[in-house]
Amino acid sequence: MESKDLIIGIDLGTTNSLAAAVLDQGPVALRVDGKSPIIPSVLSRQEGHWAVGQEARELRTIAPERTVFSVKRLMGRDHGELAAELPRLPYAVQPAQRGLVKVHIGEEAFTPQELSAEILSAVKRNAEEALGRPVARAVITVPAYFDDAQRQATRDAGRIAGLEVVRIINEPTAAAIAYGLDEGQRGTVAVYDLGGGTFDVSVLQLSEKVFKVLATGGDTHLGGDDFDALLAAEMMRRVQQRQPGLSLAGPLASQLFRKTAELVKIDLSRALETEYRLDLPALGLACQERFTRVEFEALIAPLVDTTIGTCRATLAKAGKRPDEIADVVLVGGSSRIPLVRARVRELFGRAPNIAIDPDEVVAIGAGIQGHLLAGGRRDYVLLDVIPLSLGIETLGGTFSKLITANTTIPAEATEVFTTYVDDQTGVELNIYQGEREFVKDCRNLGRFRLRGIPPMPAGLPKVHVTFLVDTNGILTVSAREERSGQAAAIDVIPSHGLTAGEIERIMDESVAHAQEDMTRRQLVEFRNMAEAVFRGIDKVWDQAREMLGEAELAAIRAQMDTVRRQAVLDEPLALKREMDRLGELTRPLADAIMSKAALQELRRFFRDHGGVEMV
Ligand code: AMP
Repeated sequence: MESKDLIIGIDLGTTNSLAAAVLDQGPVALRVDGKSPIIPSVLSRQEGHWAVGQEARELRTIAPERTVFSVKRLMGRDHGELAAELPRLPYAVQPAQRGLVKVHIGEEAFTPQELSAEILSAVKRNAEEALGRPVARAVITVPAYFDDAQRQATRDAGRIAGLEVVRIINEPTAAAIAYGLDEGQRGTVAVYDLGGGTFDVSVLQLSEKVFKVLATGGDTHLGGDDFDALLAAEMMRRVQQRQPGLSLAGPLASQLFRKTAELVKIDLSRALETEYRLDLPALGLACQERFTRVEFEALIAPLVDTTIGTCRATLAKAGKRPDEIADVVLVGGSSRIPLVRARVRELFGRAPNIAIDPDEVVAIGAGIQGHLLAGGRRDYVLLDVIPLSLGIETLGGTFSKLITANTTIPAEATEVFTTYVDDQTGVELNIYQGEREFVKDCRNLGRFRLRGIPPMPAGLPKVHVTFLVDTNGILTVSAREERSGQAAAIDVIPSHGLTAGEIERIMDESVAHAQEDMTRRQLVEFRNMAEAVFRGIDKVWDQAREMLGEAELAAIRAQMDTVRRQAVLDEPLALKREMDRLGELTRPLADAIMSKAALQELRRFFRDHGGVEMV
């Protein structure tokens, strides 16, 4: 297509912006040299010039009064409408002519349109660099609730940035278009969008290939940032409990806790438990901590439930019952959180669409809309997704998923596993497909052995297992042991022989058994962890006798017995509590005497308890 015909799609977001377009290979987010396509919607005024994006984001703490974020909240609004918003913003916003506002930085003042235009210019430049040709026209997305003034302000921003804004479309509509839902016959679609700072839910009605907004709801100040804040506060509380003398007031500490909290949160979207370090020499803070997904979920559950309540209210406003919704689409980085997905799924009684990256889905839909407006056809290969999760059997018959259901193909994932028994020279890889937590409830796809691993203590070998699903849906599983270089592989066809009805049934069963499966899985995992920790303690027991007093040794022994007794009962959380107590009792031991390797081993046992050891 000629560049004059090309129309890109732009998601101009409150925190992040990006562009997408339909290229020969289909719709893609535009990125330069494999870098992230995302440009943070942040600007910083530096010596008469704007720094935009990541660079500006980093300046936010250094030069808060010169750094502008959340401009989208100001677009097309007058000073009166912004009364609730302004106290939250660290930069100066003053009334201007016709009731509008300007952002004041030093001697200069800027309209929200001009500021948005700077972000759009950065997105445009990035798109041009990615495409290797100029871009003149765009479809830009706005929230479904934006009024005429806000839409007009967005158009003006585009014009100032040198873009012809061919159309403004609603963000939820763009997300639905990305999934091709406008092509279908089905009626009502719900779009659940949980980002960093905002939550939106929209109910759309499709008629004659056009989406009409039936109702919208949300909270303009609810999102991932709030989860970070809750987690950071809890992390701080725990440190404070252990070291009451430490003063953690001040921006340095709060920044460190916030940053670490976000990383921990993101980690817990894929792991059941994670370990993190907090180092702040200036305050005498240096510690290593753990956080589990269960603990994180308990913290954020009330906020997630609030979003579900808003969904119910919005459905009611639209005059729809949850079971009348034909499709649910997830948007926004925070929709990756497993608890969020589970709650959305529970509410609507169906698996949401998650195949497209939730950070890119709105831009991609806008890019497709642009492509269609430019006279393009939808002749690109439609997204093909992996219908059921793929993974391997791990210790205790648990199912470790490497590729989750609804991932777009081609797809690839690698995870590292280890051995469970000393001097184990082979591992058997049992490949399964399904949504349950135990392999006995999943479908076996094949097995193979990796042999020739040199004898090593349990836990030392590193077996990299890679799942690769090619565009034809063929799964290749390969395994390679890092130290010896031993490798083996097998090809299988995953969804072979399953009808759409069967897949639906498997999905439904997994929802029905989710709670019970999870409890059983935790139990198996915590028992494995207990075994591993016992082995670790045995290894260092002789040294422990030299270092610790009689009373401390007795306390450790007694607690090991308590853990053993608890391990035969069916109460994962109680077992976990006793394990944590044992961890507390053995911490001085670990810190005082363990050689680095042994210490690392024990830490790894704690960290990796998520079913990583292999049968
Ligand atoms: P957005 O505004 O849509 O770009 O979403 C950004 C928010 O998503 C931030 O709060 C991120 O911390 C959060 N986020 C991104 N990836 C993940 C993840 N894997 N798990 C949980 N939250 C995430």
